[in-house]
Amino acid sequence: MTATPAVLLRGAVAMPQVGIGVFLVDDADAERVVRTAIDAGYRSVDTAAAYQNERGVGRAVAACGVPRGDLFVTTKIWNTEHGFSATTRAARESLDRLGLDYVDLLLVHWPVPEQDRYVPTWQALLHLREAGLARAVGVSNFQPEHITRLLEATGEPPAVNQVELHPLFTQDPLRRFGAATGIVTEAWHPLAPGTGLLTDPVVARIAVKHGRSAAQVVLRWHVQQGHVVIPKSTRPERIRENIDVYGFALDVADMADLDGLNQGKRLGPDPATFFLP
Ligand code: NDP
Repeated sequence: MTATPAVLLRGAVAMPQVGIGVFLVDDADAERVVRTAIDAGYRSVDTAAAYQNERGVGRAVAACGVPRGDLFVTTKIWNTEHGFSATTRAARESLDRLGLDYVDLLLVHWPVPEQDRYVPTWQALLHLREAGLARAVGVSNFQPEHITRLLEATGEPPAVNQVELHPLFTQDPLRRFGAATGIVTEAWHPLAPGTGLLTDPVVARIAVKHGRSAAQVVLRWHVQQGHVVIPKSTRPERIRENIDVYGFALDVADMADLDGLNQGKRLGPDPATFFLP
């Protein structure tokens, strides 16, 4: 079993640096996937109301035998639930589906600027944290201008910003903004699925050099920079492979070569315009 170090959210809440993501995992399969991950040493799982698998995640948490206090569960408020009262209700519904009294991290999934309701949504998250329903609160897919508005309205920065981030899209300005504001950056699409990154010759050469897989090299690039990562796999051997990234280190040249793959282009939607109901 492989353990994973933790990062501290706002100096208070320890979050495992590697977790299992369950986007596109059926509810019926989520229990198996999360239990496989927990057996492999994972203690963190990233779900969302929109993934429609919170019940399966909850079944795994209930049945796995690991004390609730040793697990870290993240879920997210979907785009149609922005605004103070809708967000408060949606969070309680997520907890019901998960079968939990609290989540460890509650995120706003997307800012949806065209609705312009992410400030009251954020105020609801702060209220839910005060009520003990979330240990930490944060955002996902927020740009600096969105976070600045949260700060102006409440004085409270998010603990985490979960964003698309991988060697093909390194998000340097956003990561600098996060570091300056005390926000932990969490990477989604950490392996840049569907791009060929894992067969790129640069990644392959570094993988051979360290006797590791391409996925482990990419995940090591993340953790060495302090990102939280939540790679998704439904395959037991890959689930185990993806958390086993602490037994080697990339050197300065490896990191620079991987940084050099940046194309500055998103694979996923643009947070400035994305609104999927
Ligand atoms: P990932 O970067 O985790 O890539 C997942 C893909 O890579 C799957 O097709 C998986 O296939 C494959 N894969 C996983 N491990 C390996 C490996 N070791 N070798 C080769 N292929 C591998 O992308 P995701 O989009 O799933 O992102 C991760 C998580 O981030 C999501 O599950 C979700 O929790 C979160 N997320 C959040 C978003 C947001 O807006 N906040 C948006 C998108 C994702 P297989 O399953 O067959 O192994």
